[in-house]
Amino acid sequence: MSVRVRYAPSPTGLQHIGGVRTALFNYFFAKANGGKFILRVEDTDRERYSDESLQDLYDTLEWLGVKWDEGPVVGGPYGPYIQSERFEIYQQYAKKLVEMGKAYYCYCSAERLEALRQQQMEEKSPVQGYDGHCRDLTAEERAALEAQGIRPVIRLKVPREGSTTFHDVLMGDITRDNKDISPDPVLLKSDGFPTYHLANVIDDHLMGVTHIMRAQEWIPSGPLHVILYEAFGWQVPTYCHLPMVMGNDGHKLSKRHGSTSVRDFRQKGYLPEALLNYVSLVGWSYDGEKEFFTREELEKCFSLEKINKAPGVFDYQKLDWFNAQYIRRKGDTELAELLMPYLREAGLLSGDGISFERLVAFVPGIRDRITLLSDIVPMCEFINDKGDPEAALLIPKKMDAAGTLNALKNVYDVVKAGLGAGKNDEELQQDLMDLAQRLGIKNAGVFNPLRTAVTGMAVSPPPFSCIRLLGNEESYRRIERAIAILEKEVNNG
Ligand code: GLU
Ligand code: ZN
Repeated sequence: MSVRVRYAPSPTGLQHIGGVRTALFNYFFAKANGGKFILRVEDTDRERYSDESLQDLYDTLEWLGVKWDEGPVVGGPYGPYIQSERFEIYQQYAKKLVEMGKAYYCYCSAERLEALRQQQMEEKSPVQGYDGHCRDLTAEERAALEAQGIRPVIRLKVPREGSTTFHDVLMGDITRDNKDISPDPVLLKSDGFPTYHLANVIDDHLMGVTHIMRAQEWIPSGPLHVILYEAFGWQVPTYCHLPMVMGNDGHKLSKRHGSTSVRDFRQKGYLPEALLNYVSLVGWSYDGEKEFFTREELEKCFSLEKINKAPGVFDYQKLDWFNAQYIRRKGDTELAELLMPYLREAGLLSGDGISFERLVAFVPGIRDRITLLSDIVPMCEFINDKGDPEAALLIPKKMDAAGTLNALKNVYDVVKAGLGAGKNDEELQQDLMDLAQRLGIKNAGVFNPLRTAVTGMAVSPPPFSCIRLLGNEESYRRIERAIAILEKEVNNG
């Protein structure tokens, strides 16, 4: 039997780290076993549904390069894959269950159910749930209620005796006494809408799902689902509930720890390959050693056996480290393409051909200094001229205005000549070090005034990288201006 797995999110919020991990594990498991990865949209909760969440689901999977074999947009043999388009199927199967004596119509009013709930709470009754009032209505009683125009719900007959067991690949056998299972949950609401349990079980069966890999918080639903499968006479799929994702402090990962939505990570400038790589290692490992995995590698080597039974820890710093590593592996042009949107957004570069070329030339100087793509913005703020730099800022420690002026004039000539001759950054750097030696001053005596002249800052990316980004003309203008400022300082001093 070939593997068929699904990711079945409810589009009621943005995709977050936990959800994406579930999606990736399912996807990799399918690929590694030559199976199919199904995307199913569980949008039965129309109140919490949003178009934005659905779009975010598609965008997130696309960004990660995760393609579903069957699902919305691409279709497939068991469609539709959006639950709101399958309501007739659920109605039909719920009726079937009633006919089979496994479910029944319930006409209880909201008031009665509320009173029941109150009473159970006051009595601290061990069983919270429906009391089975309508379980054994006769055909006549039902007809009378129907005649009053009451539209019933359909409830599952949860056996009151015995126990229900399901097997979980990671957790082993999980057994619940049936009396502890919430009695007789609603399967189909009076408006014909299915509840999660009904739609989920029917779809997993009809879509031929072989393994259910989902978050551990769904374990409590497991016994109920098994009762449903058995009521239908269907084979129960293999369960693999994934251990929770926690923050560093041992609590379930939440906004308290930092961003959890993939959209946030994406906006800050995490690379999809870094996020995919790191998230795959939260609760899974290959051999405990290898850390770098491409998507293609994971598609080959992922296995259920290597999933950790203990909760996975999501470490933001580790993700940052991965991101920085992946950034360092990017070529100049590719990285410039990724960075340009941030600079355009910040109004620092136009994104036209010339500005793009300049960014490509800037990249080698900063590739090792950024962790997130968005780190590029503060580094490039010097593009906007901040006006005349203070003379004091231009003069390095242990130098005076006259000495600095002399050094910068020489620097200017050397830089202009070098750029004119098409020298690269290394050659230019060497020229400046030679100059420092000729002048009998430290390297800082030539580099620092140049840096401050060009960027207006005492700390910046390498000066020649900055010149590449600004372009020669603007750089010359700023150096000339700094020379004029120093001249004034010398004359006044
Ligand atoms: N729609 C459920 C969710 O949002 C699916 C749970 C399951 O995978 O069975 O997580
Ligand atoms: Zn009832």
